[in-house]
Amino acid sequence: MKVVEGIMVSPGIAIGPACLHSPDVIIVPSYDISQGQIPYEIERFQTARDRAVQDIEVLLHRGKPEIGEMERKLLNSHLLMLNDPEFQEEVTRTLKERKKNVECVLREVEDSLAKKLEASEDEYLQERSLDIRDISNRILSHLLYQKQGSLADIEEECILVAHNLLPSDIISMNREKIVGIATDFGGKTSHVAILARAFEIPAVLGLSEVTGFVRNDEKIILDGNRGLVIVEPDEATLRKYITSRKAWQQHELQLLNLNELRAETRDGKLLQLESNIEVPDEIHSVLAHGADGIGLFRSEFLYIVPRKFPDEEEQLQAYNLVLEGMKPRSVTIRTLDLGGDKIIPGVKLGGESNPILGWRAVRFCLSKPEVFKSQLRALLRASVHGNLKIMFPMISGVEELEITLGILEEAKEELRKRGLPFDENVPIGIMIEVPSAAFTSDILAKKVSFFSIGTNDLIQYMIAVDRENERIAYLYEPFHPGVLRLIKVVVDNAHSNGIPVGMCGEMAGDPYAAVILLGLGLDEYSMSAIGIPAIKRIIRSVTIAEAEELVGTIMEMKSYREIDGHVRSWMEKRFDFISRY
Ligand code: PEP
Ligand code: MG
Repeated sequence: MKVVEGIMVSPGIAIGPACLHSPDVIIVPSYDISQGQIPYEIERFQTARDRAVQDIEVLLHRGKPEIGEMERKLLNSHLLMLNDPEFQEEVTRTLKERKKNVECVLREVEDSLAKKLEASEDEYLQERSLDIRDISNRILSHLLYQKQGSLADIEEECILVAHNLLPSDIISMNREKIVGIATDFGGKTSHVAILARAFEIPAVLGLSEVTGFVRNDEKIILDGNRGLVIVEPDEATLRKYITSRKAWQQHELQLLNLNELRAETRDGKLLQLESNIEVPDEIHSVLAHGADGIGLFRSEFLYIVPRKFPDEEEQLQAYNLVLEGMKPRSVTIRTLDLGGDKIIPGVKLGGESNPILGWRAVRFCLSKPEVFKSQLRALLRASVHGNLKIMFPMISGVEELEITLGILEEAKEELRKRGLPFDENVPIGIMIEVPSAAFTSDILAKKVSFFSIGTNDLIQYMIAVDRENERIAYLYEPFHPGVLRLIKVVVDNAHSNGIPVGMCGEMAGDPYAAVILLGLGLDEYSMSAIGIPAIKRIIRSVTIAEAEELVGTIMEMKSYREIDGHVRSWMEKRFDFISRY
């Protein structure tokens, strides 16, 4: 038995066989063939292509809920490519010309098509190059009798073990069968962590070298509540964990009893507890956990799985789905936050040496006004289908905000010209996640209707600590006195200008932070749906006076360690369930 410690990022306990995932490397043989072998090779190609088509049809029709709308579209576009007569003719023609085995010819055709697409000026066409590679890999895996390692195809229950995962891997994987996630890389606020929580999959990240010593099918216990991975556990450990898994499930069920109750403190302050979502399918979980609304819809995930910029109508459909599903509750949709750590596979962002400080989020949108305006028009049109708020990410100062608001006005004008209805007064807010915005929040508050503090990035920029890097994860300190003071500045500036302030960074879902945030004056908390019941339970058990007193005490303290120790013991004395988090 071996126990490895990593970073707990998504709670719960999973027990099952390991499934190691590494990006596919298909080694393609190359040899000459005679004229007489050509029909045989063409037949091999057609058989493998038919099988690839069948694979996709099975995925599309297995009717499981994890096939979301975005993945369905992606798979349908792969079917179209596989059935494209021009693609098939190109392979046959090259085969006759080159007289090489079909695997080698297929790779050549794939390379030449993908390179042509990559060189195109048109972004949509550039992005299609990855699809060509995907379908070619599917055919090759049949030609070479290799099992393709697609996470969507996993059919047996298992714990996924990987060096690192892309957000698109988690969105498209078979989420019914993957009961836990363990990776070498990543931290608490990485997007893999956020998605694991969103899909309620226990996860431990930042394990450094878990892929180095776990083998396929070895039994693993993944303890997402303590950040442990136990490989080949002994009988006693296994028995203990089977019992604690049951206890955890019961505890979670009990918390759901609070769903119908409001998040109101003992002295009557009503808080909004909302949920963050990445894909529209999540609204079932959001409603099941009793959220008052959606405080952050990370719209970039609509772009990540299809690997392209969706058009205005496609976006409108997705926004309407969420707005109508959540009615009459409010839905805050954040405009595209691409770049930095959020990458669309295949969309080139320019090979920057410092992408986290680079061309990302609203900066990217402002330099691509057509992409941005198509999203803004879709959002505005969606505003008549529910209770919408629009939020801009990564605003760093007032000039950037003014330019952004100017583009919003242009989008409104375009809709007026097209005679399309929208809510002229849709509330507009900004995320406060750049320190310069936090320090100028008194100025920014005069131009928008709400703030939402994005602590994931705010802490990253404030302490200069990469949110994804497990080596320096110990420095990622939400209770750092600098961070707490900054949050206070933002809340006070929002309130003195008469606007509400929420928080949609992961700190909002941290039970240990719940009372501090209350005492700092936060109005709205937005988090992964699974976090809502515990935060509600805490809020319902305290008074504002108690919360303010706690904040008063910790604001006098000098170090993160002192604050952290004090808050932990304060919370653990009052909430016996909290040490599970
Ligand atoms: C944040 O930075 O806190 C935030 C909510 O945005 P994201 O995690 O998507 O960067
Ligand atoms: Mg952010």
